[in-house]
Amino acid sequence: MTVQQLQADLVTIGFGKGAKTLAAALGARGRRVVMIERSAQMYGGTCINIGCVPTKSMVFAAEHLSRPDPSSYTNAVHATADLTADLRAKNFAMLDSLATVDVLTGTAAFTDAHTLAVQTADGEVTVTGEHIVISTGSEPVMPEIPGLHGNDRVVTSTDLLVTEDLPRRLVVLGGGYVGLEFAAMYARYGAEVTVLERHSAVLGQEDDDVAAAATELLTAAGVQIVTSATVTAVDGGTVHYTVAGASESAEGDRILVALGRRPVTADLGLDRAGVDTRADGSVVVDEHLRTNQPHVFAVGDVNGGPQFTYVSLDDYRIVLDQLSGTGRRSTADRVAVPYVLFMTPPLARVGLTERAARADGRRVRVAALPVAKMATVPRARIVGQPEGMMKVVVDADSDEILGAALLSHDSHEVINVVALALRHGITATQLRDEIYTHPSMTEAFNQLLGALA
Ligand SMILES: Cc1cc2nc3c(=O)[nH]c(=O)nc-3n(C[C@H](O)[C@H](O)[C@H](O)COP(=O)(O)OP(=O)(O)OC[C@H]3O[C@@H](n4cnc5c(N)ncnc54)[C@H](O)[C@@H]3O)c2cc1C
Repeated sequence: MTVQQLQADLVTIGFGKGAKTLAAALGARGRRVVMIERSAQMYGGTCINIGCVPTKSMVFAAEHLSRPDPSSYTNAVHATADLTADLRAKNFAMLDSLATVDVLTGTAAFTDAHTLAVQTADGEVTVTGEHIVISTGSEPVMPEIPGLHGNDRVVTSTDLLVTEDLPRRLVVLGGGYVGLEFAAMYARYGAEVTVLERHSAVLGQEDDDVAAAATELLTAAGVQIVTSATVTAVDGGTVHYTVAGASESAEGDRILVALGRRPVTADLGLDRAGVDTRADGSVVVDEHLRTNQPHVFAVGDVNGGPQFTYVSLDDYRIVLDQLSGTGRRSTADRVAVPYVLFMTPPLARVGLTERAARADGRRVRVAALPVAKMATVPRARIVGQPEGMMKVVVDADSDEILGAALLSHDSHEVINVVALALRHGITATQLRDEIYTHPSMTEAFNQLLGALA
């Protein structure tokens, strides 16, 4: 058997957001690029196939049900699969249509610092690159809990998104953002949902008032949240756990493991390339996303940064700047990175909580208002979603906006306005006195920032 050889200016391992954008940008500039992706079901990466897009498609459908029932759920699973198939094909075409880019479907591992052996359906391909970008993403953590492995009721988020029959009872291990999104969504479809969280509260990174408001909404939607729960064993559909020393159990037709995601590096042969990793498997990078091998970069979840698609995209900007720009852009430029938990309504945050700002020694002014009490935000009533609250924290001395939590309709859009203000030094007074469209959720800032105390 002859081993096929490919040589490129840029080789990327994994079809994630940062890598594909970089491959397209450099390919369009005439550089030779090889994009290696291990699965034809993953062209376009985690986000469009098994992450952001399918989950938000399922959340949207859950929010617009005429009635919660198993057939609506099954229809939503099928519609979501159609959507992701379409996006996958478009993503493949985006790279495949470029004469300078080869998409190679196979699993890559380093054989030395410049060379990868790629196992494809047609045999091994050797790929050498002047620059190599590791973009292998992350995978669910599956802890060594007795009865968890090899149990056909146990699923990851990836499995659950393609499960066609609505589980009557769903137990979610982990109250992080993936766990809570699935919990809220499945409760809306009509499943009985129990979340087991080992910390004493969910959303512990938020201020207590925001966490309490979000928890209340989840509970009202039918999600049972058990905190301080240590899972000890799983037996079929029974999850055994302890709370304050007492043994309890929860029953599930499906058990979703949502206990975090770890970088995919175990089989990459990074030792053969001389690329350093941390104890959790993430690739060590500097502020320009270079590994200790200067021609090898790591972008996205695999470098241990925040696990968001838009962070992977920003990683792309940094590497592009290294390869064909000024070389100045770095992760240190990254301020005010927002995040969203797509419950209903979504919880969006940017910047500091009140707790963190006070711990920082700041003198702060705070406004926190329930959406239902904000007379100037009729948009929430128009769309039938008056639940939630908005909170903003401001530096009392400088009028600088320090952070905001928006638990409200469309907060996944509105939070970007606050993030922009934080990044560009727009003060609380300026944000309060802006002209906003009406009726919109953004105009809440006129009232919210007028309520600073
Ligand atoms: C359920 C869920 C919901 C999410 N929701 C959101 C959200 O709403 N918003 C948001 O911003 N983020 C969300 N995320 C996170 C987001 O999807 C990730 O942060 C992002 O996709 C990571 O992109 P990446 O660039 O690291 O690479 P990925 O998109 O993860 O791509 C890595 C690719 O590498 C391939 N690969 C791995 N090893 C090899 C190998 N050896 N050879 C060849 N190919 C290989 C994999 O098959 C994969 O396609 C969600 C994640 C999950 C799981």
